[in-house]
Amino acid sequence: MDIKVIASGSTGNAVRISDGTSSLLLDAGVTIKRLISGTGYTLSDIAGCFITHEHSDHSCAVKSAAGLGVDIYASGGTFDALNVSGHRYHRLPPLETVTAGTFKVMAFDVTHDAAEPFGYLAESMVTGEKLLYFSDTSYVKYTFTGLSHIIAECNHGEQELRQSVHDGIIDADLAKRIARNHFSLERLVEFLNANDLSGLKMIWLIHLSDNNSNPDKFKRTVQRITGTEVYFH
Ligand SMILES: [Zn+2]
Ligand SMILES: [Zn+2]
Repeated sequence: MDIKVIASGSTGNAVRISDGTSSLLLDAGVTIKRLISGTGYTLSDIAGCFITHEHSDHSCAVKSAAGLGVDIYASGGTFDALNVSGHRYHRLPPLETVTAGTFKVMAFDVTHDAAEPFGYLAESMVTGEKLLYFSDTSYVKYTFTGLSHIIAECNHGEQELRQSVHDGIIDADLAKRIARNHFSLERLVEFLNANDLSGLKMIWLIHLSDNNSNPDKFKRTVQRITGTEVYFH
């Protein structure tokens, strides 16, 4: 599986994955220009673009991409919040599998201050690899088997968040909102411990906060648990 994190964080999120035959986009929260260059000028070859939720840092290029012929997949709640409809927009029920190119993709519900936010499990029918993608959630209630790749939010650490409040960088209300809506290092560790990681090859940590994260510590911690390659963006 080839993974390219085009952008990640509160200013924009988009990931391109490819199994060598088909490519998918996970979120489209960058300008259409950046999405086109980020996909190596092969946007028209994208088999499907899967959107987690309507916040603009995950969705701002949706209309332009659909206009260029890209099939967009998301929850009905996300499409309603974005006020889009038409034959390019495919409304996904959670926990059902759709086929996009050579991928089977299943959406699952997550917990975030959005209409109907999703994470995605994408399995390549070519390589048999299974990639899990989620961002912007305080919690993931599902466990998965046979994962080979994980791209997961690791927004903040509990200690780092407390320190930011202590230092007056953010106020206590914002810290509470962040904890209610985003994945912490501690939650990620819990999640990883609850899942079968025997086939895991690689994990990407995304949506790291500028103020409340410690990338090197996060990477070391996750590396210790998974024993695999860890990257962050
Ligand atoms: Zn976000
Ligand atoms: Zn969000």
